[in-house]
Amino acid sequence: MPQTLGEKAVSRCNQFKHPPYSEEPGALTRRFLTPAHKAALETLIGWMHAANMTTRLDAAGTLIGRYEGTGPKTLLIGSHIDSVRDGGAYDGALGVMLGLGVVEELSLQGKRLPFAIEVLAFGDEEGSRFHASMTGSRSLSGTLQDDPTLLIDEDGISMGDAMRAFGLDPAKLRTSPRRDDVFLYLEPHIEQGPVLEAEDLPVGIVTGIAAQTRLAVTLTGMANHAGTTPMPLRKDALTAAAEAILLVEKLTSAAQIVGTVGALTARPGVGNVIPGECVFSVDLRASSTAARDQTEQDFRTGLAALCDRRGITHEVKRIQQLAPCLCDNHAQTLLAEAITAQNQRPYPLASGAGHDAMSLSTLCPVAMLFIRCRAGISHNPAEHVDAADVDIAARVILEFLDRLVEKWGDGGNSGFK
Ligand SMILES: [Zn+2]
Repeated sequence: MPQTLGEKAVSRCNQFKHPPYSEEPGALTRRFLTPAHKAALETLIGWMHAANMTTRLDAAGTLIGRYEGTGPKTLLIGSHIDSVRDGGAYDGALGVMLGLGVVEELSLQGKRLPFAIEVLAFGDEEGSRFHASMTGSRSLSGTLQDDPTLLIDEDGISMGDAMRAFGLDPAKLRTSPRRDDVFLYLEPHIEQGPVLEAEDLPVGIVTGIAAQTRLAVTLTGMANHAGTTPMPLRKDALTAAAEAILLVEKLTSAAQIVGTVGALTARPGVGNVIPGECVFSVDLRASSTAARDQTEQDFRTGLAALCDRRGITHEVKRIQQLAPCLCDNHAQTLLAEAITAQNQRPYPLASGAGHDAMSLSTLCPVAMLFIRCRAGISHNPAEHVDAADVDIAARVILEFLDRLVEKWGDGGNSGFK
């Protein structure tokens, strides 16, 4: 029985769950520049060639499959092919398989569009091998400011050496030529959240990717004997941290944004010693920079007050700040039309997670199509998508392409700036 586009994309993702496409049997781990990454690229290249695409690998190991059009402009469709350790089969890979599947369909129909389509498979979005994420999309968009090639993985191998072993030239990582042929980047991706399932919808239109701030907070009190120090005389860094964590929860709930303390270390970390120092992370995300920044400010003020009261000194370092990325309005309208044409309700939603589209937004307008995943579970082997939902996503993308072609009808104006 012939497979639907959705079944094909899902079965390819499932094929990529196992060795040689995973570094370990029984779990999916496909990190940047590993033999599993190489195996995935080789198989993708075979599928791309069969779909009348030409392929090349850029300086960051991003596989680019090009399906030629009749005009000079290029539409990018893609996502990342790397995974977290013991991850799910669809985060990233599904977007690549959908891009490929859509081109296969065009190729099968012998259809050429007024623009070329390039299907991208970024090798590093997750940052699960080296402490640098989105290396592929940042390299492609020319926004890789820091040099990640000296970063070392857990086996002591530098990214530069891993790149050379993979056949890439680390010196070229930050020299991607500026491209003015690209008019849009479209990233299909699983939602990684529970909203579409709650709305009973197969797909959703991403309006933008949240603004992020990450803080590192250090509280310093006084380590002392757990038996001999009366409660009023303590300077307990961990109880101060507990109050600060609840403050994050209270402020973010009130501002209707999200905030997380995901990492915490108490020192000396001994059962019979009052914690003298506590270090923890704060991750704040919001669709507006103003709401995020106000919450950060309120947190700093509240933290200073509670530390004062408890005789604790504190230090707050901002370790990351990312601007929100807005998805292109025109593309959102066309996606909404394409979704309606599939007898589905267009549903706009914001992305709380970061995606390659964030880095690509400095190169061109970006759009994202979310696909429902079961219970919103991701970065977990239990990650699941329904082939029927994926098939709707594929049909939406094909319909979206038709609408782009219509816009091109009058001689090369896509409607994108
Ligand atoms: Zn992803």
